[in-house]
Amino acid sequence: MRFSYSDIKSFKSCRRKWDLSSKNRQGWRKKRKADALFLGSGIHKALEFYYRKGWDLKKTFLAWYNHQINEMIIKTNENRLEMKKEVINNREDFRSMINEFGYNEQKVLGLKMLENYSDTFNNIVKTEKYITMDIGMGNYLSGKIDGIEKDKDGFLWNVEHKTAKNFNPDKLDTNEQPDFYTLFASLVYEKDIVGTIYNVLLKDYYKEPRVLQSGELSTAKNQGTSYKLYMKKAKEIYEDDIPNNIIKYSEWLKKNEKELCVQHKIYKTKKEQHNFKIQLLDTINDMLDNPRIYKNPGLHCNWCDYKEVCLEMDKGGNWKDLLKVEFEK
Ligand code: SF4
Repeated sequence: MRFSYSDIKSFKSCRRKWDLSSKNRQGWRKKRKADALFLGSGIHKALEFYYRKGWDLKKTFLAWYNHQINEMIIKTNENRLEMKKEVINNREDFRSMINEFGYNEQKVLGLKMLENYSDTFNNIVKTEKYITMDIGMGNYLSGKIDGIEKDKDGFLWNVEHKTAKNFNPDKLDTNEQPDFYTLFASLVYEKDIVGTIYNVLLKDYYKEPRVLQSGELSTAKNQGTSYKLYMKKAKEIYEDDIPNNIIKYSEWLKKNEKELCVQHKIYKTKKEQHNFKIQLLDTINDMLDNPRIYKNPGLHCNWCDYKEVCLEMDKGGNWKDLLKVEFEK
């Protein structure tokens, strides 16, 4: 069996969900349109090549996006060559398909997010790699390591690139992801890894400052702009005679500008890493030991992809048909 962090997490949170979703079990995945995964994959690719080869973030993201869209056209039509010609020739139809599925919005957002990226790493010594590790008896631990950072003091850190609407570091205190990836990186690279750095790019961007009907710059605190954009606009409107209230607001903005790119470090002591390793092996043993499958209802059901299937199972309904329509393997 192949154990990934998401597989282990799913087993621990609800065995029914794990049984439906895990590739080691039934392996059903929800069919999706352009979603968070699409954007996140493009941002990851841009960061990977930025740190590996020094490539431009936005150009790489755009190249990745264009490649994905071309692949989609080919995939959609791979067995319908005549159709393929029609779709490719009809640019308007193609454009509306891209808009309908939200890919264009993801492209615009991705480019704006990368525009605001601030690189605060000291030295990224390893870049993104998908790794499978033999843990014996035909079992493997697998996962993707986004990078390894060597800090100014020579300590090595596992790096996790994240795209998120919001980021609350407090939630990571009880989250096992940093434990898993810190341990995984140390096992894979056979080096002491002191923790995990979350490199978070928020799915947001600075808006243009608002200009009132009177032609004055707005001083509303919720306009979501940046100090740089605000001052640029102020100079355009007022030239060298910027009013006091605008200067005062810009000073407030300088201190309160929303951080769109956050690096958060989570240190893991050797004792923590050792304890986590023991718990991980216990969990893996449970997963291997023909586990009983039962559901574990709770708050997490609200964002479970299998909720409808699960409810249908309890009713004794035709949940298998529901799976075939809305899910794929
Ligand atoms: S809806 Fe809840 S109980 Fe049902 S599979 Fe999902 S997580 Fe488990």
